[in-house]
Amino acid sequence: MLGGRNTITLFTVGGIRIAVDWSWFIVLFLVIFWLNGFYESLPAAETSAIGPFILAVLSAIGFFGSILLHELGHAVVAMRNGIGITSIRLWIFGGVAEMDRESDSPGTEFKVAAAGPAVTAAIAVVLVAIGTAFSGSSAFSNALMFRVDSGASGLMAMVAWLAAVNVIVLFFNLLPAYPMDGGRIARSIAWKITGSRGTATRFAAILGMVFGYGFIGLGVLLALTGAVFSGVWLALIGILVIGAARAAKSQTRFAEQLEGITVGDVMDPSPVVMPSEISAEQALDQYFLRYGWSWFPVSGSDGRFLGMVERDAVDAVDEVARSGTQVSELVDSDSVGFHIRADAPLDSMLGNPDIRRFGAMMVTDPSGRLTGVITVEQLGRALGEAV
Ligand SMILES: [Zn+2]
Repeated sequence: MLGGRNTITLFTVGGIRIAVDWSWFIVLFLVIFWLNGFYESLPAAETSAIGPFILAVLSAIGFFGSILLHELGHAVVAMRNGIGITSIRLWIFGGVAEMDRESDSPGTEFKVAAAGPAVTAAIAVVLVAIGTAFSGSSAFSNALMFRVDSGASGLMAMVAWLAAVNVIVLFFNLLPAYPMDGGRIARSIAWKITGSRGTATRFAAILGMVFGYGFIGLGVLLALTGAVFSGVWLALIGILVIGAARAAKSQTRFAEQLEGITVGDVMDPSPVVMPSEISAEQALDQYFLRYGWSWFPVSGSDGRFLGMVERDAVDAVDEVARSGTQVSELVDSDSVGFHIRADAPLDSMLGNPDIRRFGAMMVTDPSGRLTGVITVEQLGRALGEAV
């Protein structure tokens, strides 16, 4: 979704970068500030062991952990369904698990969207169970209402606060306001019923916009009645939801116009290919100096794509050793996967991060033989014609 680019990486779990936006610290600061006051108002005997401030800090950490687990829920299910997760980012409006592509079926979409709320619900259930076990059901249910005279200990008041916050997060996330989780779930159901992702996205986007305007209206109302921070926060979420819903709508129109166009329709079918068995000297004379390009695709004697060779790699070979060095030794091993099938739909190139590195992708047939090259310019031209 949206958000600032200035993030701080906290740690990585299972290859996923966990990052926080500077705006997330506002959330933590407010949580600690508000809860410190709340815990201070509890009877001193209840908090004396730990102290209100430590309780407030622990609450903030628990809140952070809850949101992170929610996003990890989305991430784990996405990865199980073959969708890559590049990072999880937390910011003032919650968390975002960045996926490298969209779900390809309504079932996957549903599972990925529902996984986060399922985790949040599980956290709430566990916390309520812990609180009830330690304080008794009547004291804990009073603590859930943030009553200072609940009789629950400070620690259990914290558990109650975390449980209540998770319930609020769950409720809010399940509103069918695309791109929030509930909106994604609504989209997956509409997709399943209509059989069309485009129709479903348009439906979810309209629903998202209705909720977005609702959030703004409610936010203004809240702000006018004194809850300024909550009101402004809700109105800003409304603006974000409307923006994201609009973007989803126009992206759908775009994807529909590209429908039926494949990589093969747009690619250059006669690329200049460097044979792997020539020497570095020949590569320089016959390719790099002749064409002036900074890279070439390399193919083996059977025509299979082996990867890319860059000018820098050839230049780095000592001049006297160039005639005795084969191009196959200079192929960039990371670039072996930089190819796509000619029959792949063109819109599958849009989210492909590999094309950025060389500004092009190699096109191969099912046996791995090079059949073409598609460049960013060709892709851009095709997109321009489609709009
Ligand atoms: Zn979520």
